[in-house]
Amino acid sequence: MESIYDTPKILGAPTRYVLGPRVIEKLDRWIPLLGGKKALLMGGTTALKQCEEQIREALARAGCEVAAYSNKERYCTDAATNRLVEEAKAAECDFVIGVGGGSVMDLAKLVAHKLGVRVALINTIASTDAPCSALSVVYDENHVFQRYEFYPYNPALVLIDSEIIAQAPVKYLVYGMGDASATKFEAEAVYASMSKNCLIDGGLPSYSALTLARLCWEQLTKYGVEAVLACEKGAVTPALEMIIEANTLLSGLGFESGGLAAAHAIHNGLTAAPNVSGAHGELVAIGTLTQLVMENQPREVILELLNFYDSVGLPMTLEEINVSEDDLDIVAESATAPGETIHNEPFKVTKELVLNALKAADAIGQRFKEKGTI
Ligand SMILES: [Zn+2]
Repeated sequence: MESIYDTPKILGAPTRYVLGPRVIEKLDRWIPLLGGKKALLMGGTTALKQCEEQIREALARAGCEVAAYSNKERYCTDAATNRLVEEAKAAECDFVIGVGGGSVMDLAKLVAHKLGVRVALINTIASTDAPCSALSVVYDENHVFQRYEFYPYNPALVLIDSEIIAQAPVKYLVYGMGDASATKFEAEAVYASMSKNCLIDGGLPSYSALTLARLCWEQLTKYGVEAVLACEKGAVTPALEMIIEANTLLSGLGFESGGLAAAHAIHNGLTAAPNVSGAHGELVAIGTLTQLVMENQPREVILELLNFYDSVGLPMTLEEINVSEDDLDIVAESATAPGETIHNEPFKVTKELVLNALKAADAIGQRFKEKGTI
């Protein structure tokens, strides 16, 4: 058996995290963090439309230029990565700026890593905790989970303009809360089992990381509904900024330095169900509920989670993500694959345990939907 001091506790974070209304207009202040003069500017069409002009102006003020540009690639696949790396190499890019949501962030990080340059991420939606971490989730062309890619550095800059987030459809904020709802429960499982966190140098979670993960959940339950209501009106409020920070920074540091466990492994399993539909955060929400059932958490804990889901509009049944009971075998098989983070739970996890927990979690979710309680 290992001593508790055999593995050090390690925490990673972006060099700068910047959040506020209209911070995009001040981007030039942080461009020197990126090193060099030539940018690969990449992102989704909608995302770039919202802030491309401000980014180009900020780059010009900082004496930099956009040397390569892409508004075509939005998903983190190997094919997309290779295309962008070739373009950036041909243009001799010194750094990457990724603009958009979680999958663009993951793609920008992977491209920057392959180029050996720094990356700035500008979130236009707060739908996942992807921006702050030093890893990407890589999918195949059919959006089935392939693998995690880990990097030695976290992004040099994560910049989030809260006015842009407030203008985005509220569903993205809700997805982000689904992703963030897992963070505390996964970090607590990893802390209990003394498993390694998600950093490339694989440390144990520090107490700070665990605390950030717990704070994440506290903020969600305190400000989630208020943030949704503000976002529906396109209004920046302190509550909205609290939730943007919870979805991106607290959840990002909490999951990466605190570690992942069952919820994200079940998410990965759910992506293998043939007709599954739903955003990352929605599948993670089902994963979290299932994790709590697997861990035999008391009713009050499960009820708090379901009340939160209900208050912000997250799914709690398999039907809502278009998964049937017939699909659960493949989901459980894939969620318990060797190397999956589900094995960070503080007890032995088998396919059978996950299969039964998925069925029971779904029954609990259905009952809550019918009765408003369990
Ligand atoms: Zn996630």
